Amino acid sequence: MKPNKDPIVLYWHRTDLRLHDSPALHAALALNPAAFIPIWTWDPHYVYRSRVGPNRWRFLLECQRDLSDSYTQLNSKQKLWVVREAPQTVLPKLWARWGVTHLVFEKDTDAYARERDEAIIQLAEKAGVEVIVRQGRNLFDPDELVRQNRGKATMSIAQVEKAAQKIGDGNPDRPLDTPGSVPDPLGEAEMKLDGVEQGTVAARPDFNAEYRSSKDEQYSQIMGPKNDFGVPTLKEIGIAEEKITSPHRGGERQALEQLRRCIEDDEYVGRFQKPNTSPADFEPQSTTLLSPHLHFGSLSVRKFWWDVQDVLAKRRKEKKETSSIPTNLPGQLLFRDMYFGAQAATKKPEQVDQITSGEKNKADDGKLYEVDSPQAEEWFIRWREGQTGFPWIDALMRQLKQEGWIHHLGRHSVACFLTRGGCYVSWERGAEVFEELLIDHETACNIGNWMWLSCTAFFAQFYRCYSPVAFGKKWDPEGDFVRRYCPELSKFDKKYIYEPWKAPIQDQKKWGCRVTGDGSEAKSEAGQVYPKPMFDFDERRQICIDGIKAAYDAKLYGNTESVLDGTWEEAFREGAENPKKKQKT
Ligand SMILES: Cc1cc2nc3c(=O)[nH]c(=O)nc-3n(C[C@H](O)[C@H](O)[C@H](O)COP(=O)(O)OP(=O)(O)OC[C@H]3O[C@@H](n4cnc5c(N)ncnc54)[C@H](O)[C@@H]3O)c2cc1C
Repeated sequence: MKPNKDPIVLYWHRTDLRLHDSPALHAALALNPAAFIPIWTWDPHYVYRSRVGPNRWRFLLECQRDLSDSYTQLNSKQKLWVVREAPQTVLPKLWARWGVTHLVFEKDTDAYARERDEAIIQLAEKAGVEVIVRQGRNLFDPDELVRQNRGKATMSIAQVEKAAQKIGDGNPDRPLDTPGSVPDPLGEAEMKLDGVEQGTVAARPDFNAEYRSSKDEQYSQIMGPKNDFGVPTLKEIGIAEEKITSPHRGGERQALEQLRRCIEDDEYVGRFQKPNTSPADFEPQSTTLLSPHLHFGSLSVRKFWWDVQDVLAKRRKEKKETSSIPTNLPGQLLFRDMYFGAQAATKKPEQVDQITSGEKNKADDGKLYEVDSPQAEEWFIRWREGQTGFPWIDALMRQLKQEGWIHHLGRHSVACFLTRGGCYVSWERGAEVFEELLIDHETACNIGNWMWLSCTAFFAQFYRCYSPVAFGKKWDPEGDFVRRYCPELSKFDKKYIYEPWKAPIQDQKKWGCRVTGDGSEAKSEAGQVYPKPMFDFDERRQICIDGIKAAYDAKLYGNTESVLDGTWEEAFREGAENPKKKQKT
């Protein structure tokens, strides 16, 4: 192709809120732009049709602000230019208005993103705008991973490793440097979008309406309420500051500092074994807590990989103890790629987003779900609110609500409890709660892990359930984690901290908390209350195990033929002796 003399480059940030190690950004700057315009399109799809709690909103805004400041530091005329409209309609207006010659962005294989990008690439081609796409979100391009896995979803680390061997000898490329400078945008007057009409914004349904306590001003003008392309504020989104309860902060600088602190601890990185990290540790937590940064792209996953690999290589050379895949940190990153590969191979990826958009489960009466039974619904709500009466589960769910992050084994505990190890409620309902509350929510990883934990795919040892009592006790015999997140139990003796209902009434009184009711009772004059356990766990575990066994007998698992063609239902009805035969989950 004939080189364009004066490239006007529109750089579209999406999954990459960073300047370091961005192959797409490098490709954009390699064009030697006469004008370079880094934008973010504030897309109503994510704003209204993704479940996002206040803590994740703040994390995103912090990432955007940090990136915008970094651009300004490199070039005082630069920033992140935020445009308030859906990309499908606003980008054509931008490239017409600004005379854009190139559109550059990082590849995104999520379901909605794929459809969106295909549409945009077509529009760009029609308009004569050259599109450049680079992968940088994963260690390996998920589509390539699938191709190298004989076109199949990656369902195990062994498959990922094997496919990765064929891509880059098992390693991703080394990270790229942060650019030392960026070109100017267009002139101040040329950048203004005066007279450009803003497209219709579909603000309904608004999945996040419950969090908006003031006027929603996000789309008041195409360049933002202040007409300056500024990064949105919580106020514009209608979310009150008091709703933010997470201590975890966003931004590329924060991410790099967090990674640096991890990496400088040679022993921690070198000996990291996930199964040995405690889900009950807090301040500091036992794992890196870099997942939200990977989600927003404020940290490059390749930099994470290589910084760790360099430590491991050095330790191996020094003959120091060094953990290996899959339990070490590179192994964890491979799990992330595994789920992206599984998502990329899903035949109808748009269904993946629908699962967590609630659309799929709309029953005839307009409610989102066909509720299994009033009992199951009550258990689900008590699980969500951290009022199950099992302190280990409640502490984890309250940590999730407050902080937006819980340790992986904590996620195991609560996911198993809600599904096949207690309540027997569909994993999709749990995944929606996680989608709303996690600051690291990643569709591929969330859905994949929920399938794993519910034994619907990836993992099949359904008879291995997490006890809501013994598992917590094993990690934290003193019960410090429970005391922190269930403060009403803080004075309980460690003997009863995981089973407070067993404490004698006299002791309950002495420790200032009665164990009674279902979690709906408010604190009374007589002191605090904590709910009774909502069921007999041992009894429920057996019912769940029997139910799943019957489901497996009917080949109701993963993508078996009977799942794909729906015949499992018949077999289930006719053949399976199942105490939960009529249960829909
Ligand atoms: C039910 C359930 C839902 C989950 N939902 C999400 C989600 O929405 N987003 C998300 O990023 N992770 C999810 N996970 C995976 C995992 O729990 C988190 O990635 C991890 O706890 C993040 O903490 P960390 O950064 O300290 O992890 P570390 O242990 O420090 O691991 C480093 C990185 O490896 C990746 N990683 C580690 N374990 C996994 C895993 N099992 N699957 C995918 N990636 C992994 C993450 O990117 C993580 O940041 C879920 C797990 C479960 C059981």
